[in-house]
Amino acid sequence: MSILTQTNLVPLISLLPPDRLFWSEDERANFTGDKWARGPLPDVVARPHTTEEVAIIAHFCFQQNIPLTTRGAGWGYVGGAIASQGGVLLSLDAMNRILDISRTDFVAHVEAGALTGDIARAVREVGLFYPPDPASLDHCTIGGNIATNAGGPHCLKYGVTRSYVLGLEVVLMDGTVLRLGGDTHKNKTGFDLLGLFVGSEGMLGIVTQATLRLLPHPRARRALAAHFANIEVAAKAIGAILESGVLPCALEVADAATLRHFRAAQGQIPRVEGSHLLVEVDGLEESVSAEAQLLSQILRSSGALGCRVATTEAQVEELWQMRRSFSASLSATGGAKLNEDIVVPRGKLVELVAFAEQLGRKHSLEVACFGHAGDGNIHVNLLLDTPLSPQEAGQRAQPALDELFAQILSWGGAITGEHGIGLAKARWWPGAVSPEVRHAHAAIKTALDPKALLNPGKWLE
Ligand SMILES: Cc1cc2nc3c(=O)[nH]c(=O)nc-3n(C[C@H](O)[C@H](O)[C@H](O)COP(=O)(O)OP(=O)(O)OC[C@H]3O[C@@H](n4cnc5c(N)ncnc54)[C@H](O)[C@@H]3O)c2cc1C
Repeated sequence: MSILTQTNLVPLISLLPPDRLFWSEDERANFTGDKWARGPLPDVVARPHTTEEVAIIAHFCFQQNIPLTTRGAGWGYVGGAIASQGGVLLSLDAMNRILDISRTDFVAHVEAGALTGDIARAVREVGLFYPPDPASLDHCTIGGNIATNAGGPHCLKYGVTRSYVLGLEVVLMDGTVLRLGGDTHKNKTGFDLLGLFVGSEGMLGIVTQATLRLLPHPRARRALAAHFANIEVAAKAIGAILESGVLPCALEVADAATLRHFRAAQGQIPRVEGSHLLVEVDGLEESVSAEAQLLSQILRSSGALGCRVATTEAQVEELWQMRRSFSASLSATGGAKLNEDIVVPRGKLVELVAFAEQLGRKHSLEVACFGHAGDGNIHVNLLLDTPLSPQEAGQRAQPALDELFAQILSWGGAITGEHGIGLAKARWWPGAVSPEVRHAHAAIKTALDPKALLNPGKWLE
């Protein structure tokens, strides 16, 4: 297949500038996978510099029936950017310019390959704020964030990527260029096609540019870290916070297993129980100061064994440092780790952690939960005692994963809140939505990509 397709691809050389296509095995090997797994070699890697070049590539593949898979930075967690059927791997990493930032219109125009962290820092420099903050923001692209509708801790107050996409330039599989939305903060002209492309995991079109909505940057922030005897008490504190009238910009929880591994990684004596909450508020100095005081009272009266209030930027960062190191502490066990970003209705947190513990006991593995308590988007980490690739670990843990996802769905939850389905969660897609919803997805896919060439071999088939 590879040799045949490479031959079919040769005419593409005459349609593009000389340095856009990469044919050697070594060059192609750098584009075979993401943070979940490696896949087969694509037949060629294309690194276009303009929307016109993307359109030429798409049109060529459409005419020649060649699979086309879009890649941002390859920091996805579900294998979405793997060219699982070979063909052309279209990397947007060279289209990484922040075109302009408007302080009057509160928008930024960016190319799809721009890194999210670079965009957040650039708008911060002019006093503006791009809130979606995936933990991977220094490595992943805005195009990848749009394709997965990425979230992060601040999405509790500010919403996920979809809330910040005002305009999109999208190349369809036949090379047609769509320009949707624009610089206005509201627009109800026609269907919400923009929303259709956000979260479409590269299967409906190729995002080449985006217009992002910006906010005024909050002037001040405070963070509070509290320790509880167990998850039940922490869950009561979460309820009390959300009933108090304060909407934190982040509300993060960790269970006993996560804390045990965190302490071990820090060289501390592991305790067997406990739960950790991190709460952040932002806004004007006067309001965050009053809110932090109220939150501190709520945490203590809800049973916090200890509560630390961070008032300076450095102290706030120190508390976040601990939160950010949970994932690495779990990886430091040396065995394989499967991070499942499930979502449960907010009130199910305690039941989720109890279920995870039972699941671990039943399948002889450890399960550690931490994540965005305010959204019910909890990272359930299955820890295996041998160092396997995520694919092998997924196969080994499949019975446990089947039970986990069945339970989540029976609670009215979702199998993914941020990472998407890709290849990693394709097995559970049919059970996650009704046949009617699957049919609607298939109809939309056929309308926009009638030959099923765009990012093929993933969950939609
Ligand atoms: C350590 C770590 C932490 C993470 N933390 C978070 C988190 O907090 N929140 C979160 O939401 N995710 C998180 N992720 C997952 C991941 O970073 C996000 O899914 C991110 O959006 C991927 O961006 P990318 O540029 O690397 O995309 P890729 O991995 O290259 O691609 C992801 C998907 O998007 C498609 N795609 C990429 N670019 C385009 C484009 N321009 N047009 C159309 N389709 C495109 C691809 O085909 C693929 O299906 C984390 C991952 C890691 C490894």
